[in-house]
Amino acid sequence: MIAPLLPTYARIDVAFERGEGARLFTADGQSYLDFGAGIAVNALGHAHPHLVEALAAQAAKLWHTSNLYRIPEGERLAERLIATCFADTVFFTNSGAEAVECAIKMARKFHAVSGDPERFKIITFDGAFHGRTLATIAAGGQEKYLEGFGPKAEGFVQVPFDDVAAVEATVDGTTAAILLEPVQGEGGIRPFSARTLKALRQLCNAHGLLLIFDEVQCGTGRTGRLFAHQSSGVTPDIMAIAKAIGGGFPMGACLATEAAAKGMTAGTHGSTFGGNPLAMAVGNAVLDVVLADGFLDRVRACGLQLAQKLARLKDEFPDIIAEVRGGGLMIGIKCHVANTELVSACFDEHLLTVGAGDNVVRLLPPLIVSDDDLGEAVTRLETACRRLSGTSRAAVANG
Ligand SMILES: *Cc1c(COP(=O)(O)O)cnc(C)c1O
Repeated sequence: MIAPLLPTYARIDVAFERGEGARLFTADGQSYLDFGAGIAVNALGHAHPHLVEALAAQAAKLWHTSNLYRIPEGERLAERLIATCFADTVFFTNSGAEAVECAIKMARKFHAVSGDPERFKIITFDGAFHGRTLATIAAGGQEKYLEGFGPKAEGFVQVPFDDVAAVEATVDGTTAAILLEPVQGEGGIRPFSARTLKALRQLCNAHGLLLIFDEVQCGTGRTGRLFAHQSSGVTPDIMAIAKAIGGGFPMGACLATEAAAKGMTAGTHGSTFGGNPLAMAVGNAVLDVVLADGFLDRVRACGLQLAQKLARLKDEFPDIIAEVRGGGLMIGIKCHVANTELVSACFDEHLLTVGAGDNVVRLLPPLIVSDDDLGEAVTRLETACRRLSGTSRAAVANG
């Protein structure tokens, strides 16, 4: 018999009743260290007082009015986002996939209103993940997500990861844009080099293409910069964000320059819920904390501390850990054992982590994680590695 919840997830048999900071608690009082943060969503951990207060205060005033009327909290959030980055304008969505969809539509519309409607193709990279709608699975290009869902949406061409020459060879008179995650998340915490980003920016400038960054996972403080691309000096024309900007409230945004957004006039795009007062109150509250003096400095410092501890762990367990990569609090551990085994060994130690492509285990702790919790997580990870290492050595010994 089918489960009441459509069984599209192979869920772990655990449920949490409440959370506090980087910790989650089951109804029977068991505690877990949350180093998955709802897949990079709970940037401020669980039950952050400032977020709880912002949501409760807004809930008592007004939940929803639709985009038929002005939403002052949204105007304020858009202005604040614009002040932090390359963008001049923002469209709010309810999810990451919708933010990427908006970016795709905007890039195509840009060329259409420029008199080049034949320019609608978008170049993406192997290992990409852009969401689960029909267009975003085509953009991600992963067979396992496309399989069985009819013809792949037209207009997406994929090239090998980080391969500028392949992009150059692919660009033609039908190309509209290049779309990439500055740090691939689901693909296994794979950062594009600053050199590649610069080369792609130049390519876009030379050919009149739009550069689109999907910072749904790596954005909003995760890498220790507000947006991951800001460490490269390269700016996109359009950027999708989501996950952490809502701190657990479902929301996303598509940010763009005025030039890139020129085709998106009244009536061209919409969303019933996008940017509603509840989401906007929470988004503003997230920014209050993430933009506070020293917050991102601390994320970078924590990231370095974690990377050092993990480097030692890699030396101790070379049979388990192949590589540690990423930056800030977006860390990937490439494994020699199956990544699912390490995720499950960590779970047994009450440490939550998330698997990713390329046989990687992701560590994505809340950005407010304490030094003690960082240390504790590494201790639990070490125990998990020791246990796996014991069994893998025993397996080798037993031939
Ligand atoms: C999670 C994710 C998405 C999709 O976001 P949803 O909110 O699940 O639609 C898109 N792009 C990237 C890089 C992501 O990590």
